[in-house]
Amino acid sequence: MERFDDWVTDPQLKLAQLGAFIADPRRIGEAYHGKYLIWESSGTSHEPGIFVQDAQTLAVYDALEALRRSAPRPLQRWFDPMLLTERIAFVGATSGHFASMVSMQRVRQLNPWMAQSLRCFNILQAIPSLVEELNAFAPTVIATYPTVAALLADEACRGSLHFFPKELWTGGETLSPAVRRRVELALRCSVNNSYGASEFMSIGWECGYGKMHANTDWLILEPVDERGRPVPAGQRSYSTLLTNLANHVQPLIRYDLGDQVTVHDDRCACGSSLPVIEVQGRSDDSLVMAGRDGQRVTLLPLALTTVLEDDAGAFDFQLSQRDDHTLVLRLNLHDAQAATTMARCCTALENFATMQGVASISVIAESGQLIPRGRSGKAQRVVARPNPTRD
Ligand SMILES: [Zn+2]
Repeated sequence: MERFDDWVTDPQLKLAQLGAFIADPRRIGEAYHGKYLIWESSGTSHEPGIFVQDAQTLAVYDALEALRRSAPRPLQRWFDPMLLTERIAFVGATSGHFASMVSMQRVRQLNPWMAQSLRCFNILQAIPSLVEELNAFAPTVIATYPTVAALLADEACRGSLHFFPKELWTGGETLSPAVRRRVELALRCSVNNSYGASEFMSIGWECGYGKMHANTDWLILEPVDERGRPVPAGQRSYSTLLTNLANHVQPLIRYDLGDQVTVHDDRCACGSSLPVIEVQGRSDDSLVMAGRDGQRVTLLPLALTTVLEDDAGAFDFQLSQRDDHTLVLRLNLHDAQAATTMARCCTALENFATMQGVASISVIAESGQLIPRGRSGKAQRVVARPNPTRD
């Protein structure tokens, strides 16, 4: 961002003016200088950025969204390609210039007839009033983050959700298989996941076989290790470099996304020649704890979330580290259900940490707590302490 004015290829674009533009929520989705779409990144775990899209970039993103996304109800789409019979709810942060919200506003502005059928709901409001608003709209399609989908699944199990959507589209955070199963069962709908970022709107899409394909005709993804060296197919990367082949106004070349990606080299049964990838997003931290033999032990976020989901049946949670031996677990559950789930979580975490060689661990339980969300509405499920001691 420091070199933004040198980096963009249109000299009319200046960071200071763009900063003023995105500070005004009334201008979300407005065409900047009559031709650019502007959004800010969420900055969940990194410095927020400003991203400029020109007409060509948007045409590519629109085409990828329209053509590559698999339809869970193909017959329905055949008869209704414009989604005219659907009520679509976007549940996210509605007050910032974030990519998803800007895109929703743009669709509404381009297609005024969709104003009633496509509505945006603010996740940063109190949950009972969000549930009330959703019940009144009774959406057939919900587009949201996986952590919000998990929250809605809990609300459905509690009986407070009075509708069942037909489809739920997730993106923006990592979707684990356990959260997907939980949402499919609780909301009785199909879940369609995609992989996007502020740096490239539609990096990957899920095919009918449930595999994520990367749009490598419009981007280059390079999985790399800690030192930036290529990681072979089938192996999870430390980070991933993105080159955006569509955007010429703000060129992104070998941009460090921070996501851990596994690229597979075998062809998917669906017949697509685009590579299958698996993604662990950048928003969750690894936790470095004190080990039994004086060494430090790293607990990976994927392992910790799997333990809590599979062994303890918790889906809407936040696990944060307090010190070398202490974790704080927040659950958005109340009464008897909270106590039993929390007990299962503590046991599962202690067993897992012991198995990994952690010296001793204590888990502070906080039930009935809302999971904190950033300005963009995204939640971080595993949070390291701000300044861990490094060896
Ligand atoms: Zn496929």
